[in-house]
Order: sequence, then structure tokens, then C-alpha cells
Amino acid sequence: MEIRIENLEKEYKNHFKALKDVNLTVTDGMFGLLGPNGAGKSTLMRILVTLLKPSVGKVFVNGRELSENRKEVRSMLGYLPQDFRFFVKLRTWEFLDYAASMAGMKNKKERLKAVDEMLESVGLFDVRNRYANKLSGGMKRRLGIAQALIGDPKIIIVDEPTTGLDPEERIRFRNILSNLSQKEVIIILSTHIVGDISSTCNKMALLNEGSVHFEGAPEEFVNLADGHVFRTHILADEMKMINEKYPVVSSVPDDMGYEVEIVADRLDDFKGEVITPNLEHAYVYFMEYVAKGVETPV
Ligand code: ADP
Repeated sequence: MEIRIENLEKEYKNHFKALKDVNLTVTDGMFGLLGPNGAGKSTLMRILVTLLKPSVGKVFVNGRELSENRKEVRSMLGYLPQDFRFFVKLRTWEFLDYAASMAGMKNKKERLKAVDEMLESVGLFDVRNRYANKLSGGMKRRLGIAQALIGDPKIIIVDEPTTGLDPEERIRFRNILSNLSQKEVIIILSTHIVGDISSTCNKMALLNEGSVHFEGAPEEFVNLADGHVFRTHILADEMKMINEKYPVVSSVPDDMGYEVEIVADRLDDFKGEVITPNLEHAYVYFMEYVAKGVETPV
């Protein structure tokens, strides 16, 4: 499977440009689209699932142009929108059964079997008779992913799936997705939460103000922050100054004041030990320095 996005632009009716010359290639596996709120992630997702038309540019799915093959591409798609909710009063299993019919599963016996298996795999089998709107927030998100996955889609698009979930639910959610990424499917996961990307994605892109600022493996992204993350000890009364000058990613009180981790181009006024960056450090470095044009990585 391959999705190729070429020179994509989206200008809304009010002339706001939500996407600017986006070029991306996505192949089998989990692709993480990371970016702050307002970056244009939902706009891009909605174009990919044919709910929105681009102003300029094209999307190719396995070489076939999206707008000319909408029906065919839609039949391959599973989509979990950011604002997933239920419009009808249905029990959990009925909702999934309905989603399975919509995904083209006509044979009732096969469909019910698939529904039971899916309920089992997302951990909702025990609550299958509960009305969907009475499920907890985390369960609703799981039903959301179940409706996106039923019918074996080849392209799975999930928009901000972990927003509002507690840490346990978030891990569970990631595991459901990463189990799937073993198959020959494309999973595109959009998120503003760095932790959603690190463990599961083999490739990622950083979207900011409608433009792609980085495309590659998460490890490559992390490497860009090499030499820009420092650990140092500061006195309690230096905290205000430090906070004003540098992004502080963590601070732990110690005997003298605080042990802090700082992202910076370089430390001008005091000594610090350079530490190995993680994805969160890299994201902060990118947003605070690279995206603002303070420093360009090589
Ligand atoms: P994200 O999913 O990354 O938060 P969105 O794609 O939802 O970003 O939005 C990108 C930008 O486009 C935001 O500034 C948003 O306000 C704007 N936007 C989204 N939908 C519309 C619309 N229908 N009309 C005008 N502007 C919009």
C-alpha cells in the first residue's frame, strides 16, 4: 500500500490557508502525524478520507488519483474522526454491526462473528449489550477504533485518538494499533501528544502552520536535537530567569534548588551537562527554535 500526497493545499472559504504545499509518502506501517492544535492535521485527514476537497494538489492511493477513485478508496478506508460520536441510540454490538454493514459486510452470520471478534479485541465484549452512549469515555474511543477497523480496511486513519483518555486507556489504545501495524495496512495517526508517536510509529511527519517541517523516522527526528538538551542545577531564585529564557522540560527539587532539563541552542550563562534527547525534547527543540527560525538543523 502507498499513499502519495503531492503539492497539497487547502484554503478555506474565509481564505485561511490550512495546508501549504504538503508532500508526503506513506507506506505500510504506522505513520504518526504530529503537530500542535491548529497545525492542519484534521484538514489533511479529512482530505485523505474524501470528506474535504483540496484546493490544489493531488493524493494517489496505490498510484490511483483519489478524487477520481473515491468509491474504491472509500471501500479500503477505516476512519476515526476527532469528534467521533453516536447519533443513534444503539447497543454497543448493534452499533458495531451497523458499522460493519456500512463497511460492506453483507452476510449476517459472518458479520456477527466479526463483530464479536472485534468486541473481544478492543475489550468491549463484556459490555456489548450496554447502550453505546452509556459507555465510559475510554470505552467510547475503543468503540470508535472498532468501527474504524471492522471490515478489514487497508488504510486506517485515526485523528487525535487518545485525547481525553487516561494513561492506562492510552496505552491500551496504542497496543491495539500497534498490533495492527504488523499487517499489510497503512495506519495514519494524527496527534499533538508526543508520547503517542514514540512507541509505535515507524515513520512520522511534523506539521506546523500547514507545512511539513520534518518527515522521517522518529529516531532521525530525535537526532536533530542532539547537543541541544542540557541538565543543570540551579538555585531556587534562578528558576524565574531560566523559565523566561529557555524551555524547561523538567524540574526536580534538590538540596540547593532544582535539577532542570533545558532545551536550548546553547547555554550562554551557566554550565550544563549535555544529555541524550528523547522525542519530547526534540519536539520542544523543533517548535521553540527550528520552527521559529532561530536555528536550522543540518
Ligand atoms: P488540527 O487538526 O491540527 O488542530 P485543523 O485542520 O483542525 O488543525 O485546523 C487547521 C486550521 O484551519 C486552524 O487554524 C483552524 O481554525 C482552521 N480551520 C479548520 N476548519 C476550518 C473551516 N471550515 N473554515 C476556516 N478555517 C478552518
